[in-house]
Amino acid sequence: MEIRVEKIRKEFDLYPALHDVSLKIESGELIALLGPSGSGKTTLLRLIAGLEQPTLGRIFFGDEDASYRSVQERNVGFVFQHYALFRHMTVAENVAFGLTVRPRHERPPKAEIRRRALELLDMVQLSGLEKRFPNQLSGGQRQRVALARAMAIEPKVLLLDEPFGALDAKVRKELRRWLREFHDRTGHTTVFVTHDQEEALELADRVVVMSQGKIEQVGSSDDVYDRPNSPFVFSFIGESANLPVTVIDGTVHFHGQSIGLAAQRDGEARLFFRPQDVSLVEEGPGLSGPVTSSRRLAGTRIAEVELGSAKSPCHVEIEVPLDASVSNGTTLAFRPTRWKLFY
Ligand code: ATP
Repeated sequence: MEIRVEKIRKEFDLYPALHDVSLKIESGELIALLGPSGSGKTTLLRLIAGLEQPTLGRIFFGDEDASYRSVQERNVGFVFQHYALFRHMTVAENVAFGLTVRPRHERPPKAEIRRRALELLDMVQLSGLEKRFPNQLSGGQRQRVALARAMAIEPKVLLLDEPFGALDAKVRKELRRWLREFHDRTGHTTVFVTHDQEEALELADRVVVMSQGKIEQVGSSDDVYDRPNSPFVFSFIGESANLPVTVIDGTVHFHGQSIGLAAQRDGEARLFFRPQDVSLVEEGPGLSGPVTSSRRLAGTRIAEVELGSAKSPCHVEIEVPLDASVSNGTTLAFRPTRWKLFY
């Protein structure tokens, strides 16, 4: 099911939680809504689900204007962070719930409901646990029951709000991989909310980066990491440093000195680069300053270098070879090899 969000505005008591948000989600895509707290991710998901109504704008499911359709009419399945399984029901009863509460004329016969619940439990790899109660399951297992329950109504769209938020790091990683496989097997259009960039980059076909109620960028993991189109996306995804620079006659200057980078347009700008995208230089123009601290990561070393004047220093972190001399006070000179200017 293709979903089109068109020029959505959502106000809560005149406070705009979303401004002019447009997004097209292809049928069968796995989409991550990624952004800091308060950026509007959950609000957008709830609007797609039909749990909220837009103040302005429209939402299409396929060719149909679904903006004012109820949750049931939209036929979406959703799972929230605090997977509220029914404690007094077994795993199988939890999964079957959405079917058992259907109006009589739409309700499948009991045996059919049971068959479907068991089939779904098999799909989420929980066969054999159908008679257990939620408190007899691990967090990851409960989360998979919640997913099976959302799937039971055969939704066209699956919406997940921080689905792995409450789980520990190891289980999160397992479930991530599992969700990707599950999605590929079932082919549902899936939208999930996360504030965890690693989760979004690893899992999603496309990542929607949000900030302050707006979409900043939509793209593949490579797009948003390698080709961020705004200072916000550059800083929010991955590690990065940025410096105030001036471009004069096509060369980039920092504190009055050329740093050996050529640019198309003159003016004041911010130079962004990632710690790993630098090379140390022996001579010629570059950025240089004393090391103020360093630390070893698994296969590399990170040095913090102080640039600019003592009055208004800028600290940046760069990756250096393991054998580089980086005791505090040593001067390091380097040049970004991949970088971007924002004017
Ligand atoms: P988080 O990661 O913290 O869940 P989020 O990106 O999902 O954040 P939203 O929950 O969509 O953000 O909230 C966006 C903005 O809208 C926030 O400033 C929030 O306070 C506000 N907001 C959300 N729901 C309501 C509501 N029911 N009434 C009033 N304001 C709301």
